[in-house]
Amino acid sequence: MKPIKKLLLLLILIGLVAGGIFYFRDTKAPQISLTPGSGPISSKTPLTLALEDEMTGLRDLTVTLIQQDRRIDLVTQSFPPETRNHQLELDLTGKKVKDGPFQIEVTAIDQSIYHLAEGNRSQQTFQLTYDTRAPIISILSKAHNFTKGGSGLVLYQLSEETTKHGLIVGDRFFPGYQQEAGYYACLLAFPYDIKEADFIPRIVAVDLAGNERQAGIYYRAKNKNFRKRKINLSENFLQMKTPEFEALVPEVVEPLDIFLYVNGEVRKQNRAKMADLGKQTSATPLWEGAFKRHTNSSTVAYFADYRDYYYAGKKVDQAVHLGYDLASVAQAEILAANTGNVLFADYLGIYGLCVVIDHGLGLQTLYAHMSQLDVQAGDQVSKGQPIGRSGSTGMAGGDHLHFGTFVSGMPVEPKEWWDGHWLKDNVSDKLASVGQN
Ligand SMILES: [Zn+2]
Repeated sequence: MKPIKKLLLLLILIGLVAGGIFYFRDTKAPQISLTPGSGPISSKTPLTLALEDEMTGLRDLTVTLIQQDRRIDLVTQSFPPETRNHQLELDLTGKKVKDGPFQIEVTAIDQSIYHLAEGNRSQQTFQLTYDTRAPIISILSKAHNFTKGGSGLVLYQLSEETTKHGLIVGDRFFPGYQQEAGYYACLLAFPYDIKEADFIPRIVAVDLAGNERQAGIYYRAKNKNFRKRKINLSENFLQMKTPEFEALVPEVVEPLDIFLYVNGEVRKQNRAKMADLGKQTSATPLWEGAFKRHTNSSTVAYFADYRDYYYAGKKVDQAVHLGYDLASVAQAEILAANTGNVLFADYLGIYGLCVVIDHGLGLQTLYAHMSQLDVQAGDQVSKGQPIGRSGSTGMAGGDHLHFGTFVSGMPVEPKEWWDGHWLKDNVSDKLASVGQN
């Protein structure tokens, strides 16, 4: 063979290989994803389509909505070269989509010359359901009487599955819990820190497509004025507490500053912890009858006492006391106020050594300032069971029990839960009468 022929052959061969590489360079079709890609959506749900073609890039896109025998073109689009990624929101407004199932069909083609220059084509169909109707709320309970700082129970039924339901009071949310019979029960509070005029409880329910409905309830709300108390911080108290509180303060400062940090910052953290624990609750009530009050005790401080703290004759701080201080003898035996599960048994800031018991529906009791804990998180306790001994750990000047009740993390008046008559009228009879239906 002549060298010139050899060279020509070699060039043809190189050409074929290069052409082949170019032809087979991109044999992968574009990737399609839709979010959400299944399930119920409403007219307000953002429907995001994402496309990707790593090699040659995207060329054409068509998106069609199919409902029964209707086909509605949503998108027809061509892309400039080198479009590797594209994301867009599908807009269904004005497309006259009816409530019920429908499909989104997406076809995407890339710039590849594969398939005799047709490119790589992918097609995907997504099954969705259009839902524009909010859940229907039927209120089952009748009398809803609230006293400022206290609790109440609302029972209701919902027409469909939801992602969120419960009662809203201002910017606070109290979740409801489904009961065995199918209806929902929600314990809520008339928060101690809002005005009577601002207490407007509403049921809220949001379905899987995001449709929300709110419903008002008939209720009666009674105002209550809380006590104001003056607390003098003695040098003695500050000195006594400093070693314990130093561990909670980022940098060691003067005893008064340590106190102010614990009474402010640490108190806030402890409230947040209680709000967190409020979500860890049994969906059904665990309590049995009225709650037990600390045996043979006298009340030293009441729920929602507004406290002004004075040091050397000057007001230095303020706080609200959100429980009862009950004093009996030193290191008195502390009993579980009712049946439930121990959620927390450890040291917690201002509460010192404390126990939190869950009684279901978001209702929890707190036993603070203890000197000894006889239970652990995870234990089941029955009403009247010893859980430890009283003490003066945390923000306490002397041996006493600080007893708190919480509804979904919101501190509430414990007195109502100690009162068998209140409990029967406002909680037990309601649950019993609806349970029979
Ligand atoms: Zn207290």
